[in-house]
Formats: sequence, structure tokens, C-alpha cells
Amino acid sequence: MYIAIDVGGTNMRVALMDLNAGEQIIKLESHPVPQDYEAGIQEMMKVIREVSNGAEINGIGACFPGIIDKNDMVTTANNLPQWTHKPIKQTLEERFQVPVKLVHDVQGAAVGEALFGAARNRDRFVYFIWGTGVGAGDIKKIDDHRYFMFSFENGHHIMDWDGKLCSCGQHGCPEAYLGGSNLREYFGRDMCEVSDDDPGWDMIVEKAAQTILNTLIFHPVDLFVFSGGVITKRPFLLERIKPIMRERLALFPLPEMVLAEKGEQSPLYGCAGLFQIDLVK
Ligand SMILES: [Zn+2]
Repeated sequence: MYIAIDVGGTNMRVALMDLNAGEQIIKLESHPVPQDYEAGIQEMMKVIREVSNGAEINGIGACFPGIIDKNDMVTTANNLPQWTHKPIKQTLEERFQVPVKLVHDVQGAAVGEALFGAARNRDRFVYFIWGTGVGAGDIKKIDDHRYFMFSFENGHHIMDWDGKLCSCGQHGCPEAYLGGSNLREYFGRDMCEVSDDDPGWDMIVEKAAQTILNTLIFHPVDLFVFSGGVITKRPFLLERIKPIMRERLALFPLPEMVLAEKGEQSPLYGCAGLFQIDLVK
């Protein structure tokens, strides 16, 4: 069995996973993440002990909302700055005497979908995040044990030189129109007050179709798996985007476009799945 940990900006979810069982998440707990690293790692180890409850653990996989270098060191984490350049992997390995793997949360979620979700049995797909931010990864199966993942900033390719100012400093990026906080600003009210048939979605659907189409041009795959708060709350957007893409696309056929099957559990499946494959980055 494995311990899978999804560390977010505010909560850490710790799961006991049995990838051979019918119900693969045996136990799951969610706890607040202390900003202070020492308090945080102590809390994490305490929760791991509670969740594993004496079960034999073969490995611990953890994902973080930040950049992780080739030595499994978290080097950048905007929401958890005090967790950067800390010996997370070494501390967990010494304490639990099992292999520990760390991965970026988007990569963890993509691996979860590749092995257990919407992209299982597929050789290649694009994992597309549409939430507060917009980003993607191109995941390709090399053989049964190795997957290659190339992450890229399609949320910040420039669609319009004189377009809306983006938080990255450029103008006309997809994220400037599609990102969760930009949507709230665009609609001028809380998103829970915006209905699915609001005419304001017309522009958003056009921009999203352009973004996905441009992504497809550079990454011609036959499956896009979508995740993130905006698209999972408004799946009707995909159905409105498809006909626009079909009309505009000339180089490639329209890819299959689906939501992530494991939903918010994808990163947990990915963190456990990291022990079944080598992720080549
Ligand atoms: Zn940008």
C-alpha cells in the first residue's frame, strides 16, 4: 500500500491507497497546512501515522503546488514559501524508512488520469487545467514503465497583442480572459450568481476555443482531459467550445474532450501511481 499526499495552499490531504483493491482509497483525511515548515512536516508525519494505522507502506508520494527540481526539492511554492528548499523527502524517508517521491501537483494529477482515469489505455493526451490559472501538460507513454510529461504555459501564449493585461505582465494571454479570478472581474459579480445561459459566456467560449485549438496545433493529440475549478463546475462550456473548434480546425480532427475522471482525487492516484512508473520530465 502507498501513502498519497496532496498538499494545497490551505489543506493537505493524506490517503492510504491500495492500487490492487476495488476501492483504492482506503482512508482519506484532510488537515490545514501550517505555513511554518517545521510545524507542517511534524503535522504531516502525524497524519501519515494515523492514516496508515499500522498498515505496511511501500512508498510515500506527495505533490505540491510548486516547482520541484530533479532532486525532489521544492524550489518555488507561491502559497507555501516557507516549505521551499527544505529536506521534505529526506525527512519522510528517514522517519518511515520507505521510498519517497515528490511531484508538482499538476503532474501528479496528470499521472493519476494517465494510469487510472480518463486517459488509461491511451498512449498520449493533453492534460488541460482551467481553474484559477490555465496551463497544460503533454503526457506520452514511452513503454509500460515510462511516461514522458512536458508541461507548458499555454495560458500565457499571446492571442492578441493589444488584448487584456494578464497577471504575468503580457497582454492578450488566455489566462487574462479565462482564469477564475478574471472571470469574476469580467462578469462583475460572484460566479455563483452567474447562470449557465448568461450571454457573457459567449466571449469566454470563443477565447477558450481559440486557446484549445492553438494548444492542439502544437500538441496534436486525440484526447484532451480537462481539470480545474472553472471547467469542472461548468462542463457545459466544453459542449459549446467543440462546434467552434470544429468549424475553425482545418489541420487536425477535433480531439476527444472530456473531464478528468478521478476529479479532485486525480493527484492522489498520481502520487501512488508514481511508484508504478518512471515519470520522465
Ligand atoms: Zn499571461
